This record gives sequence, structure tokens and C-alpha cells, in this order.
Amino acid sequence: MSLLERLKRLLGRVRRWKEAGGGSEMISCEQALSAVYEYLDGELEAGPREQVKAHFDVCARCYPHLRLEESFRTALRGASGSVQSPPGLRERVMDLIARSEDG
Ligand SMILES: [Zn+2]
Repeated sequence: MSLLERLKRLLGRVRRWKEAGGGSEMISCEQALSAVYEYLDGELEAGPREQVKAHFDVCARCYPHLRLEESFRTALRGASGSVQSPPGLRERVMDLIARSEDG
């Protein structure tokens, strides 16, 4: 069997698995990011929570956002009163995260 045929078979299997409802199908980045606040607040039900967690576990694009929101919350919890963060803070935190991940 050629490699191409094997790939086609594999893709066919994945497609059938998805059509069958395939257990926990991966949610999109948009879905994961729109649920990040509820996720951190613990407001999601077990099912959606697992889906969001599974996405952040594997998605290198979304994971920094989760960490950003987490560190944001920690910072805000320590701050008194205003929930408004100063402009540019988000970018600075994002930059710090990016740099820490570079090693
Ligand atoms: Zn993602």
C-alpha cells in the first residue's frame, strides 16, 4: 500500500469518527478563548470544562492566552478597588510570557 493510500484511509477513519460524534471533538480556538473566563472562574460544567482544558493542553496558540488571563486574575486579586488595568499592561505581560517560553 502506498503512503498516499494509507493517509487516505487514516483520513477516512478520522472523518467517520467525527461524523459519529467521536467522543470529545476538539473545540475551535474561538470557542476555547471565549470560554476562558468561565473556565478560570470554574463556571463551566464538567463536559465543556474538559473540552476547554483539552484544547489549552494541546494548542500552542491559545495556551499563552490562558496563562495571561490567569496571571491577570492573580494580579487583580492583589490589587484593591479598580478592575481596570492600565493600558499596555496586557501587552507587557504577554511579552513576558513570550520571553519566558523562549527559554
Ligand atoms: Zn487554540
